[in-house]
Amino acid sequence: MDYRELLGELFEGAYIVDDERKIIFWNSEAERITGYSAEEMIGKRCYENILRHVDDKGHQLCHEGCPLLDTIEHGRTNRAQVYLHHREGYRVPVLVKTMPFVDPLDDKPKALEIFTDAPDPKSVKQKYKQLQKSSVIDTLTGTYNRSFLEYQLDLCQREYGVFQTSFAVLFIDIDRFKHVNDTHGHAAGDAVLRTIAKTMQANVRKDDIVGRWGGEEFIIILRHVDHMDARMVAEKHRMLIKDTHVSHGQQTLQVTVSIGGAMYREGLGVEKLIEIADGNMYTAKKQGRNRVVMDNPM
Ligand code: GH3
Ligand code: MG
Ligand code: MG
Repeated sequence: MDYRELLGELFEGAYIVDDERKIIFWNSEAERITGYSAEEMIGKRCYENILRHVDDKGHQLCHEGCPLLDTIEHGRTNRAQVYLHHREGYRVPVLVKTMPFVDPLDDKPKALEIFTDAPDPKSVKQKYKQLQKSSVIDTLTGTYNRSFLEYQLDLCQREYGVFQTSFAVLFIDIDRFKHVNDTHGHAAGDAVLRTIAKTMQANVRKDDIVGRWGGEEFIIILRHVDHMDARMVAEKHRMLIKDTHVSHGQQTLQVTVSIGGAMYREGLGVEKLIEIADGNMYTAKKQGRNRVVMDNPM
């Protein structure tokens, strides 16, 4: 196989310049990363203001410290983190490796540049996904985290202000959870948190949001509901959680929850809304736990 065919198969961008830095080969990944086709590039000199590599300090590498030139002149292999100029004008960060080689086709010294816009495409994508997730998702339960809940509550409040879109919150606290930890261990407690989180997630509508407020407390934001709906949904979750069987090792655990609910109303503010829901949850505890207490319908 001709080495050009081989380079064509790479997941990285690759191009070859001769000793005058004229581009003689340009693979398809290089086309994807830069937007320039082989047709446009072959025969051009790489310093003709096309790719315009700059480093992170803004140095134009074509004029001051071109890694390819160094490779050609000194036969050195270089690595650099640089920015290429994409055909559409924006800058693409790439990791560049340049290496010397003698072209077997004409026995002349050339330089090969391999570059990638994601040093390890798979791991970078995965990391990005994880990052993106971890900023809104609670890692233990897979539900939304508190800051995302706060953000959503704020949105709901604004939407209420403009369109009067109704919403309610359910404040859900596991009953005697300390006892679960004390009797079965912290890992069992974690398993309980994960499993009841799944029950809640599986039983809300697409518009509704389930998140962990902290410790063993969850919040569900219900949108487009009236007082009756909110109470019904709360009752449904209370019942479903009571009937959720958490398997942990040899054991099967069950817990109940107390739920306090509150409807948003004009001028209330999100903080006050949560305070009311939390207060109702506390009343549910006092009344014997495993129950729902809603605020008074207006
Ligand atoms: P109550 O019915 O009044 O709510 O009783 P409780 O025991 O649930 O209430 P309390 O607030 O006293 O205890 C909550 C417990 O939740 C204490 C803490 O150890 C446990 N907890 C909080 N976060 C986690 C967690 O991430 N994992 C586990 N396993 N336990 C947690
Ligand atoms: Mg609590
Ligand atoms: Mg509790």
